[in-house]
Amino acid sequence: MSEKACANCHFLTKENSCPKCKSSSLSEDYSGLVVLFDAENSAIAKVMGVKDKGRYVLKVR
Ligand SMILES: [Zn+2]
Repeated sequence: MSEKACANCHFLTKENSCPKCKSSSLSEDYSGLVVLFDAENSAIAKVMGVKDKGRYVLKVR
């Protein structure tokens, strides 16, 4: 089963709903995988509004 990206917070998951924000609007059509190890000190995390480490995508269509 392929991973899906949350359209709300861009978190990457294999679940049917986002474990981060509980949204069920997931998409398999995404681009730009970002792996955050240190979200607090990451410029990308700040831009995306992400506070937790994990795997995210830049764009969800
Ligand atoms: Zn989410």
